[in-house]
Amino acid sequence: MSTPIFPNFIDGEWIDSPKHIENRNPANPDEIVGLFAKGSAADVVRAADAAQAAFAGWANMPAPARGAILFKAADILDKKFDQLGAEMTREEGKTLPEAKGEVRRAINIFRYFAGEGSRYAGHIVPSERDRVHMFAFRKPLGVVGLITPWNFPIAIPAWKLAPALICGNTVIMKPASVSPLSSWRLVEALHEAGIPKGVVNFIAGSGGEIGEALVNAKPIKAISFTGSNEIGNWIHAEASKRRLRIQLEMGGKNPTIVCADADFGSAVENVVNAAFFSTGQKCTATSRVIVEEAIYDKYVEAIVERTKKLKVGDGMLPGIDIGPAVDEAALNTILKYIEIGKKEAGEPKCGGNRLPGPGFFVEPTIFTDVTESMTIAQEEIFGPVLAVMKAKDFPDALRIANNIPFGLSASVQTTNVSKVFDFIYKAEAGLLTVNLPSAGVEYQLPFGGTKDSSFGPKEQGPAAFEFYSDFKTVYLKY
Ligand code: NDP
Repeated sequence: MSTPIFPNFIDGEWIDSPKHIENRNPANPDEIVGLFAKGSAADVVRAADAAQAAFAGWANMPAPARGAILFKAADILDKKFDQLGAEMTREEGKTLPEAKGEVRRAINIFRYFAGEGSRYAGHIVPSERDRVHMFAFRKPLGVVGLITPWNFPIAIPAWKLAPALICGNTVIMKPASVSPLSSWRLVEALHEAGIPKGVVNFIAGSGGEIGEALVNAKPIKAISFTGSNEIGNWIHAEASKRRLRIQLEMGGKNPTIVCADADFGSAVENVVNAAFFSTGQKCTATSRVIVEEAIYDKYVEAIVERTKKLKVGDGMLPGIDIGPAVDEAALNTILKYIEIGKKEAGEPKCGGNRLPGPGFFVEPTIFTDVTESMTIAQEEIFGPVLAVMKAKDFPDALRIANNIPFGLSASVQTTNVSKVFDFIYKAEAGLLTVNLPSAGVEYQLPFGGTKDSSFGPKEQGPAAFEFYSDFKTVYLKY
C-alpha cells in the first residue's frame, strides 16, 4: 500500500509541496504513517493574507452560526472516532485507550465551544448617569497563529482552534512535525463541515521556518504556543517586538506530595498513573514525588513493586500500559537524564534501561533519595522517570514542592483537611489536584501554569475568551 500524502490547507485548498515530512510510528519506526507537505515561509504569507481576507466575513457571521459549523465538525470527528484513536497511537505512541480518551476530549471541546457561540457575552451594567446605557461586548482579534506540541496531538490543537474560531478569529495552525496527523483531521473535519475558505489554514513544516514566518507575518495579531520553554521564550522575545498578544504554555517539573495520613493504596496508584502513563510525556505528569519521612520506606517499596508490573510495548496491543517515547531524540534525552540520575542518586530502584525492539521503548524508572539541588529534581525530562524525595513533614514537603522555577501542576495525597487547604493556598502551580493524579484535566475550567511554565491568559473553559477576544465598550445616551 502506498504511503498517504497529507497536503497543507491554505485559503480553502489542499496544497502539496515538493518536500515532505515523514510521520513515523514510534513503536515501529519502519512504518511511515503519512507524508506531510513541508510548508514554507511563503506558504505562511499566503495563508496570512487569506486569513486576513476571510476575517471580516467570519467575524460578522452570527456566533451561533459559527457554532453550528463546530457542532457539525464534532459530529464528523465522532463518526471517525475509532480511526482517529488508532491513528494517534500510530503517530504518537500512547496506548489506544489513552488515544481514544484524548479524541473524545477533543470532540467534547469542539461541542463545548460550539455551544458558547450561543452563550458567550460581555457585560451590561447600570450607568451613574441618567438615560445612559453602557455595555461591553467581545470582539475577535483577527488572524491568530496556533503552534502546537506533539504530546497531545488532537486535544491541544482542539483547545486552541475551537475558542479561536467561535470568537470569530481566523487561524493558521502549525502542528508539531512528529505528530501532525491528528490535528490535520480536525482541519479536514472543519472543511467538510463547510467552514468558509481562508478561515482555517494548516501548515506543517520546520518549526524554525514556519514559526519565524508566523511571528513576522503582518496580519497576525496573536500567537498561542504550547511547547518547550526554549521556543516559548524565543517567541516571547520576538512577539514583543511586534506587540503581538501571546499565550505560552510550556514545561513543568510537577510535584506530588504524599502525606503520612494519605489513603496509601490510592497514593501509590495516583502517582504511578501520573508519572508513567503516556510514557511520562504529559506536561502535567508527576516527575517528583515528595514523601513524608514517616512512610517513606514503605511507600518506596510499594511504588517500586507496582511500577515493575507495568507493561511497556506497542500501544495498539491490549494489556499495554506504556507505549514508546515519541521519537529517537526524545528517547535519547530520557536516557541522558537516566545517566545523570545514576551519577547523582545512584542506581534506580527500578528501570533505567532502553528496552529491546525497533521501537523507542524505555523502562519506567524510579530514583530514590533524590535531593533538591540534583538535576533530575530541577529539569524537565519529559519521560517515564520519577524522582522520589524525602520530607521531614508536610511544611517541608510543600517547601520542596515549590523549590523549582516551574509551576504547571501539583498534587497532594492526604486525608487531612488542613493540609488540603494549606496546599491549595500555598502550592505554586496553576493546576492543583487533591487525592487524584497530577495529570488528567478537563476542558470546562481554566488550564495553565504559573512561574516559568506559562505566560499570558489561561486556556480552556471561560478563560479561553480572555486570550481570543477583546472588549469594545459602549456608552449610549438615549
Ligand atoms: P517544542 O518547543 O520543541 O515544539 C513545540 C512546537 O513549536 C512544535 O510545533 C515545533 O515545531 C514548534 N517550533 C519549533 N521551533 C520553533 C520556532 N523557532 N518558532 C516557533 N515554533 C517552533 O516542544 P515539543 O513539541 O517537544 O513539546 C514538548 C514540550 O511541550 C515540553 O516542554 C512540554 O512540557 C510542553 N508542553 C506544555 C504543555 C502545557 O500546557 N504547559 C502541554 C504539552 C506540552 P516542530 O515540531 O516542527 O519542531
